[in-house]
Amino acid sequence: MTTYNIAIDGPAGAGKSTIARKAAAELGFIYVDTGAMYRAMALYFIRKGIGRDDEKAIEEACGDMDISLRHQDGVQQVLLNGEDVSGLIRTEEVSRMTSAVSVYGPVRAKLLELQRELAGRENVIMDGRDIGTCVLPRAQTKIYLTASTRVRALRRFRELEEKGQMCNLEEIEHDITERDYRDMHRDIAPLKQADDAVLIDSSDMTIDQVVGAIVDAAMARGLSDGR
Ligand code: C5P
Repeated sequence: MTTYNIAIDGPAGAGKSTIARKAAAELGFIYVDTGAMYRAMALYFIRKGIGRDDEKAIEEACGDMDISLRHQDGVQQVLLNGEDVSGLIRTEEVSRMTSAVSVYGPVRAKLLELQRELAGRENVIMDGRDIGTCVLPRAQTKIYLTASTRVRALRRFRELEEKGQMCNLEEIEHDITERDYRDMHRDIAPLKQADDAVLIDSSDMTIDQVVGAIVDAAMARGLSDGR
């Protein structure tokens, strides 16, 4: 069976996960959040007290760690050596560590096969930074989802506020700008729009409008209603 794959890439806070989750539910696809996998790896390095610049220790630690995904009622859980760490990986500390360590080849290689294998087995909507360009270059539909830096910072701010976490808008905007720069300028699998990706700027769009645009793009690229 050939699976149908939708790749969504874009910078931090563009709304990829909210939108991909909704679109996946609408289409009956599995949603794969690859950022969560990188975050689980970063959490492991933090727990081990490994510095973000200690490339050798990071490479060694990659061998000690097992990352896997489990889906329960459509919700993805990410497991680090069998422990569900989904609730522990959304802090700003983990975000910073994740973008710092995801530049390293062994970190990326660890997740690449797992991501490809999932997409080969199931119809997936997979979001990340390098899905359309590197992980699934033959994905039938590719989306590059972005929004202005200010809008993305505001979204993150509200999300953290809702969770009761102390936050500062200027700091969030600064963090987002730094992460984007690192993600776009690293040597391996940098964030960029694939040549054949549909560009969606969600700054002035509602969630439902963006989901609609993605479903329409997939329909225009061979996905039929019954799939
Ligand atoms: O999407 P999310 O904000 O959870 O991603 C966290 C970080 O993980 C990104 O800033 C990026 O450095 C890294 N990442 C990546 N490749 C992916 C997904 C995430 O390098 N496919």
